[in-house]
Amino acid sequence: MKSFAKEFKEFITRGNVMDMAVGIIIGSAFTAIITSLVDDIIMPLISLLFGGLSFEAWNIPLGSGAEPPMLNLGTFIAAVINFILIALVIFIIIRTINNMRKKQEEAAPTTKICPFCKSDDIPLDATRCAHCTSELLAE
Ligand SMILES: [Zn+2]
Repeated sequence: MKSFAKEFKEFITRGNVMDMAVGIIIGSAFTAIITSLVDDIIMPLISLLFGGLSFEAWNIPLGSGAEPPMLNLGTFIAAVINFILIALVIFIIIRTINNMRKKQEEAAPTTKICPFCKSDDIPLDATRCAHCTSELLAE
């Protein structure tokens, strides 16, 4: 039976665990930037459009008294905008990566054209054409 320490060492030295850790660290730093963008730049501009009322003051007190429970609509709207922006940026990143991958696949063909019979489905490492049986140079 494997010892716990050995198993743990195997787990953290696996490549994808390190990739995941880097992703989480970059992701949380990125989330902080988006949160700051929303709270410090976008929401003040929206507040300006609504007559300069701070979005943190957009709330509805439930009941009376010194400290009634509050419906904090402003901070909720900020959180929703936050989410939409993060989802949008992630969509753009994934779309860019997919396009790059697609281009790479198109740029790297897996077949070649036979110089004798012009068949275009010859594997790159084939040394003889399957159609006309001519000898080919492996690439
Ligand atoms: Zn051929």
